[in-house]
Amino acid sequence: MLISTEFGVYRGQRRADVKITCPFCSRDSHVVFFGNNKVETLTDYLSSGISFLTQDLPFEAPIREFLKSGYCRECMELMFGTSSTKIKYVKRERR
Ligand SMILES: [Zn+2]
Repeated sequence: MLISTEFGVYRGQRRADVKITCPFCSRDSHVVFFGNNKVETLTDYLSSGISFLTQDLPFEAPIREFLKSGYCRECMELMFGTSSTKIKYVKRERR
């Protein structure tokens, strides 16, 4: 489900790009997290696996749902009636 997490630094702030395949429609989505605190929390969450409660994460609900379930924007909208524009589709690479 979780494909990859890329860490980097942008304008002095840490950033993390989390890419997940939607378990529903198999499309790849990603969310970019920005800011030292957010990225640190995200790192803790990812390294602790499912033992970490997503409700404690300092992100908006759709982003927490994305991290937990991997649902893409459209599937999340269908299921919960809400989503976030921060969840973006990954364009397929040309081969
Ligand atoms: Zn989907």
